[in-house]
Amino acid sequence: MVQLTKIIRMSEIAKNIKLVEEKILKACSKRSPEFENIKPRLVAVSKIKPASLIIDAYEAGQKYFGENYVNELVDKSNHPDILTRDIRWHFIGHLQRNKVNKVLSVPNLFMIETVDNDKLATAINSSWQKYRKQDDHKINVMVQVNTSNEPEKSGCKIEETSALVKHILENCKNLKFSGLMTIGAYGYDPSNGPNPDFLSLKKCREIVSNELSLDINNIELSMGMSTDYEHAIELGSTNVRVGSAIFGERPPKTL
Ligand SMILES: *Cc1c(COP(=O)(O)O)cnc(C)c1O
Repeated sequence: MVQLTKIIRMSEIAKNIKLVEEKILKACSKRSPEFENIKPRLVAVSKIKPASLIIDAYEAGQKYFGENYVNELVDKSNHPDILTRDIRWHFIGHLQRNKVNKVLSVPNLFMIETVDNDKLATAINSSWQKYRKQDDHKINVMVQVNTSNEPEKSGCKIEETSALVKHILENCKNLKFSGLMTIGAYGYDPSNGPNPDFLSLKKCREIVSNELSLDINNIELSMGMSTDYEHAIELGSTNVRVGSAIFGERPPKTL
C-alpha cells in the first residue's frame, strides 16, 4: 500500500512537470523572433515541500530547484538522498548578511537571485572564497529589483539597478553577474495587457546594458511564477520560478 501511494504521488509530480514544460515550449513559440535562441530555465520552487518530493521531481528530469528560507535550503541540500543527485540550487528568498555563510555552504549552490544592495554583494564576494571548490569558480548572482516599488518588498529601486550591477562587476570578482529578478505585484491579470512589472524589468535590463556596455543577451530575466510564467516567457523571461503548479498548493502564510 505504501508503495502504491508513492507511485501515484510520483506520477502526479512528473505529470505536472511535463505539463509545465509543454506550456513553456508553447509560450516560447509565441515570442518575438529576437528571443528564439533562448530556452528558459525552469526552477522548481520546493519551499515547504519535503525532500522526497524534490527527489520525485528530479527523477522526472527536473534539475534546478529554488528555496526561499536559508535553514530549509541548508537542511534539504544536505539530505543524504539529495547529496547524491546533481541538483542545482537557486536561492530566491530575502538574504540577510548574517546568513550569507550559511547559504554559501550549500552543496551544489548554483545561483543567488536576490542580491539587492552593495553590502550584501560585498559580503557574498568575500565569503565565497572560503566555500568555492575551485579558485576560478564564480558564484552566479542576480540583482533583485523592486519593480512594483512596494515598501514591504525586497529588491533595489529601479533607478539604483545600474549602480549595483556596476559595483558587482567592478568590486566583486568572485561573483558572476547573471541577470535581473523581480517578484512584482501579486495577482496581476495578464488579460489586462503585459504585466507592468515584467515590462519594468525589461526596461531595467536595457538601461543596465546601455549604461554599462553589456551585451543585453548576457543579462537574464528571472520573472514569472505558477500563475504567470507563460506570460512572462512571452515577454522574454529566461528563468521562471514555478512552485505550486509542480508541487501543489502550499498552506497559506501564517505570518
Ligand atoms: C514561492 C515563490 C515562487 C513560486 O511561487 P508559486 O506561485 O508557487 O509558483 C517564486 N518566486 C519566489 C520568490 C517565491 O517566493
